[in-house]
Amino acid sequence: MSVFTDYKKEIIDAAHNESLRKGVSRSIKGYRANVDNALTKFPHTIELAEEVRKIREKAIGEMEKLAEQACKAIIENKGKCYIAKTADDALGIIGNIVGSSKVIVMGKTMTGVEIGLREYLEERGNEVWETDMGEFIVQLLKERPMHNTQPALHVPREDVAKLFSGIFGKVSPDIPALYGVARKFLRDKFVQADIGISGANVVAADTGTLFVLENEGNIRLATSFPPIHIALVGMDKLVPSFSEACKVAEVTWRYVGQTAPAYTSLISSPSKSSDIEKVLTVGVHGPKELHVILMDAGRTELAKHPIMRQTLYCVKCGGCLFECPVFAVTAGHFGDKYFSGIGAVWAGMVSKDVEKAAALAYTCLTCGRCKIRCPMKIDIPTMVIELRRLIREGMISGIQNIENVGKFTSIYPVNNSQRGYVNDEKTGQR
Ligand code: SF4
Repeated sequence: MSVFTDYKKEIIDAAHNESLRKGVSRSIKGYRANVDNALTKFPHTIELAEEVRKIREKAIGEMEKLAEQACKAIIENKGKCYIAKTADDALGIIGNIVGSSKVIVMGKTMTGVEIGLREYLEERGNEVWETDMGEFIVQLLKERPMHNTQPALHVPREDVAKLFSGIFGKVSPDIPALYGVARKFLRDKFVQADIGISGANVVAADTGTLFVLENEGNIRLATSFPPIHIALVGMDKLVPSFSEACKVAEVTWRYVGQTAPAYTSLISSPSKSSDIEKVLTVGVHGPKELHVILMDAGRTELAKHPIMRQTLYCVKCGGCLFECPVFAVTAGHFGDKYFSGIGAVWAGMVSKDVEKAAALAYTCLTCGRCKIRCPMKIDIPTMVIELRRLIREGMISGIQNIENVGKFTSIYPVNNSQRGYVNDEKTGQR
């Protein structure tokens, strides 16, 4: 079976899955209402997003310099900082810190999913628990996340109840009751945990501060209760200053659909105090150790591409996915490490999984609805068309079954004038 055949079966099965469609359509409805409300209440966000795009455009060109600067600040703050060139380097660093036979609680991290962090730590004999409700559901289902901010959006409440009932005892499909079951189980894990792992939404290089946005409070617990906190962060999350990081954070949560998240944690160092005689002591109520891994894994290379570098401006709000007509019927099955059109670009340019990238690139309709929703105005359709060109012309190494790509290419547009791109952002007219 080729990647194409497997993918075709997966996506067709997903499109015929009534339960998946129920979960996704409920989420789309909720997302649109939430984001409209957030932008109506805080209309300056739209202009702020334009400023954030400029901040990120500049920061992406300076990632290595910013990583050095952030590391210096974190070390000065009594934390430890590492720059990982590859995903394997990042796994090795984390593996050395963790060792084996540990209990680990994880906050949601797409960067962790990108490099298979949970599976890697489990293989080394650790007990690892996802603590974000969506990730917890996906972990118990033995599936992969299906959305950046809502990993289990494809699982309606009835299916969550069935899953939990099989593991924890009979529970009704009442949403608060389902949260109650997870809370009860995970409380013990937070207390037992040796190590908490998180990502970060944005990092200020000047102060070395990690900004972590969340609603559930699980990341607060995972990053403050265990004695060791490890943060894995893609280098694309770096911006020069604390004040710029605040702007990125505000735009991110508005386009996630929130007026303000329940919790914004700003973490710059391990727990410390100078309360007794002004003598600095590290490790008081919170973690004694903070380890920050700034991971490149293809990002600096991607930043050199004049069109594809836009992928790195993404703030992972997930808004584009809720507007994508293919995602609406397939969820993250139209994806790989990341989803939809931007996931196709990631698969081709960063993961170098060219067969997967081709399958995703030729699934994309290049309709342009994603670009209209995107706060960074990332031109995903143009990137997808460029990706098709790179694949077709053999510009990305690693393709095994090039003849299969050829079968797709004849029916798909190769430039903007041939596609059904929505080109008027106000009216949606083609
Ligand atoms: S591409 Fe844009 S809309 Fe999609 S997740 Fe990234 S920032 Fe959000």
